[in-house]
Amino acid sequence: MYLESFQAWGEATRQRGVPLWRIVLEYEMHQKGRSEEEVWRRLAQVYAVMRDAVETGLREPRQTPSGLVRDTGKKLAHATFHLISPEFTMLLAYATAAKETNACMGRVVAAPTAGASGILPGIYTFLARHHGVPERTIYEAMLVGAGVALIMERKASIAGAVGGCQAETGTAAAMGAAGIVYAFGGTIEQVFEAVALTIMNMLGLICDPVAGLVELPCVKRNGAAVVIAAAAAQMALAGDTAVIPVDEMVIAMGAVGAAMDTRFKETALGGTAATPTAQAIAQRIWVNPNVIRREDPPE
Ligand code: SF4
Repeated sequence: MYLESFQAWGEATRQRGVPLWRIVLEYEMHQKGRSEEEVWRRLAQVYAVMRDAVETGLREPRQTPSGLVRDTGKKLAHATFHLISPEFTMLLAYATAAKETNACMGRVVAAPTAGASGILPGIYTFLARHHGVPERTIYEAMLVGAGVALIMERKASIAGAVGGCQAETGTAAAMGAAGIVYAFGGTIEQVFEAVALTIMNMLGLICDPVAGLVELPCVKRNGAAVVIAAAAAQMALAGDTAVIPVDEMVIAMGAVGAAMDTRFKETALGGTAATPTAQAIAQRIWVNPNVIRREDPPE
């Protein structure tokens, strides 16, 4: 099975002289009984939902009744100070806006999960708008990302409740980093290095949603994850390596997730969720929900 490991995927790709996405496309056709045309059509539909999540997040108020989500995407989109470049700030804006659309019960693509649903829309929107990457290449990058997620799910996990936030936002960031490198013509090795570098830099990240709501730190982490994905892709495209093979990094992620205390696996008992302020917010939300008002900030 080609998608059991990055090594097997890479070998199959080289032996057959096909791009990485071709193996994933064939897997999808075989598993779902779909024609190639149907797979491309569905990719277009998925991409449209992702773009819409970004647009909606940037256009409409993105505030949740809990007060934990308050227009992060729009604040970034209208920022006047830019640490690196205005485009880079927009990468964060796109990712957080899409994730806020999810927090506000809008339509998103859970790729790989709802908690991490801003990362890929943010990256693909960034590639299309700021680098002119054509839609067809983005669909191919989506297939490459799907291959990454398949292997990570099999060898580690993609669920925060199983492996911590490294499994959710970490996997999405790895999918996105692979897509960036692919879109810019990186080699198979560079795509895999970007995945390894992303995992290396997200290893150990816990899942600690305040009050058990997939809002905080989730929106902020979607923003931070695209930065790590971009950094990993940049390093890989520059010819840098993770030194540790990508398959070993995936196994390491799975081992870290398995060793993680249950407080850090979406139980809202540790990390950010266990801070006094988060506990007070949880008390306010769950014990006396009537006091929650939109104008009632969590600070
Ligand atoms: S903190 Fe938990 S719920 Fe939030 S994005 Fe990370 S894994 Fe998902």
